Amino acid sequence: MGLFTKIEKKEIQAPDELSGLKDRFEKGHFPEEVSRTLSKEMERLENTDPSVAEYSIGIHYVGYLLSLPWNRYTEDNLDMARAERVLNEKYYGLKHVKERILDFLAARTLCSIEAFHVLVVEDEEIARNNMEFVLKKAGYAVDTAVNGIKALEKAKEKSYDLILSDLKMEKMDGMQLLETVKKRYPQTEIVLITGYATVSSAVDAMKKGAVHYLTKPINLDELRRIVAQIRDKKKYFQIARGPILCFDGPPGTGKTSIGKAIADTLDRKFIRLSVAGMRDEAELRGHRRTYVGAMAGRIINEIRRVDVRNPVFMLDEIDKIGQDFRGDPASVLLEILDPEQNAHFVDHYLDVPFNLSAAMFIATANAVENLPGPLRDRMEVIHFPGYTEKEKVRIAMDYLIPRQIREHGLSWHSPRFTEEGIVRIIRDYTREAGLRQLERGVAGICRKLARMILSSPKETSLPQIDERTVERFMGPPVYKSEIAGAKNRIGVVTGLVWSEFGGEIVFVEATRMKGTQQLILTGSLGSILKESAQTALSFVRSQAPSFAIDPDFFKDMDIHIHIPAGATPKDGASAGVTIATALISLMTGRCARRDVAMTGEMTLSGRVLRVGGIRQKLHAAQRAGVRRVLLPRRNENDLKDLASEDVEGLEILFIEEAGEAAQFTLE
Ligand code: ADP
Repeated sequence: MGLFTKIEKKEIQAPDELSGLKDRFEKGHFPEEVSRTLSKEMERLENTDPSVAEYSIGIHYVGYLLSLPWNRYTEDNLDMARAERVLNEKYYGLKHVKERILDFLAARTLCSIEAFHVLVVEDEEIARNNMEFVLKKAGYAVDTAVNGIKALEKAKEKSYDLILSDLKMEKMDGMQLLETVKKRYPQTEIVLITGYATVSSAVDAMKKGAVHYLTKPINLDELRRIVAQIRDKKKYFQIARGPILCFDGPPGTGKTSIGKAIADTLDRKFIRLSVAGMRDEAELRGHRRTYVGAMAGRIINEIRRVDVRNPVFMLDEIDKIGQDFRGDPASVLLEILDPEQNAHFVDHYLDVPFNLSAAMFIATANAVENLPGPLRDRMEVIHFPGYTEKEKVRIAMDYLIPRQIREHGLSWHSPRFTEEGIVRIIRDYTREAGLRQLERGVAGICRKLARMILSSPKETSLPQIDERTVERFMGPPVYKSEIAGAKNRIGVVTGLVWSEFGGEIVFVEATRMKGTQQLILTGSLGSILKESAQTALSFVRSQAPSFAIDPDFFKDMDIHIHIPAGATPKDGASAGVTIATALISLMTGRCARRDVAMTGEMTLSGRVLRVGGIRQKLHAAQRAGVRRVLLPRRNENDLKDLASEDVEGLEILFIEEAGEAAQFTLE
């Protein structure tokens, strides 16, 4: 019985539903192809029995297409001075990042505010002069040509935003001109002007890529309106055009929030979509409608949610897209990110292209190195290097703490955090290049303060958060300095590596036992790291006498090298010198100083090669309490770009030969 009533209800409602959709269709503006698809689908629905499943699938599809922002934009705010102010007010430091972003925005802005160049192609002199006059008066840069051939000559010299061309002309007519221009200069828009008698060829022209057509005699108001429309549209595409920005750096270094700030300064909507762990292309691009329960993909869904087609769209963690991704992730990402390709983005559910090129895409990654070459080469990578302790303290004092205080409703109670207290939080409770754990720590303290206020309403003064009180709020320290207080040992050497979480210290351990000349490797080792270990061992064996080691030390022995914990380094090769030093320490029986840390790739003969991530590695050394850092001589120039803060508290020595590392490390 229940079932019957349901169906009845649907039958009564269905035609209403369809006529509502028709109404929306008639009132809206849609691209040609979409209009065609919609009309066809609605026609089909009219002849479909509303009680069959297909009907409701069709209704949903039409409703979905109608609801997309095919022509809705937000107006851009292109005030560069304001952009600079917002970035400087909201973000501490990151000078190099801000500069790069402002340069990028400036170039895009310039493209979009530059004069709009129009070429009028018309053989009748009076009509030509009229159009030229009206358009110049409206502020456009206007050139004229008397036929298609002359127009092509001009288009060769200058790039036009728009060509307005008569359809009927001698020599080369408008249609031929249209075809050639679309082939050679796809960015140039074309409007054809037709006589009443040739409306059908105007439709043909639209199929070949003209954006519009005007009928003769030309209504000058209409001309102005249409040209202005095309100019406005182009403006949005210009700012999104150009290389794709990719923010690369460890977590918590401000990538997402700077992306949001860019959207704010441009007055654009902001979308953030993480692709980490995505396995299926359909998640991004939807399922075909033939699937039961098919849906549009996340990209289109997000665009629909913000209801404009020109948001700032952040695709987060593109280096973490699922390993077992079905389809080729790089080509899918390129198709989404690249303005040339995404102008024809087809979501499988929609089945008609949605032009994504007005959206400004920004990608983020923790390790761009892991991205496939073609994708990496198409992006303009901006590195977010991570912060020193001093920078973190400043950011905490000026940004994170005031924000957390506000968010926890504590403003009237003005809790006080001292600098020493923050340093304590950073040293004892965090181990990161960014600010996530620190922010979480501060938030945790704020929650406890809020509870204190509520549980004893009369007591108005709150305890100060300083070096001594931190532990009361945060419990026992999570990280003890790995260096201070640790004993120097034989075969254990401190190395500096660079992973996607920023710089890190690792303790390379080497030990030996009776055996059959095997090299055993364990820990978080990538294949490059394994090769470095082999190289280091061969080096020590071949140079044994110079380190006063018995050349036969490997006979009847197994050697075991272990690199504990931590993420797999981005630059496995840079542990070469550390491994060699651990082996020399083991073979000579001399203890290695814990507070000496090193990084460097090495050749078989022991030459020390340049490595990456120096700044991050130095920060890791500072965090861990290292005193002396050994760097490849070939990295000496990198230090010139660093601030005094980056090397504060560290004695830096440069080495050329792997053997020197042992001299500076072993007791
Ligand atoms: P990511 O996207 O790199 O993981 P987030 O953008 O989430 O990092 O940043 C983490 C937190 O640190 C945010 O609350 C952000 O506002 C803050 N933050 C990061 N860098 C700065 C900075 N330079 N100045 C002020 N706040 C910052």
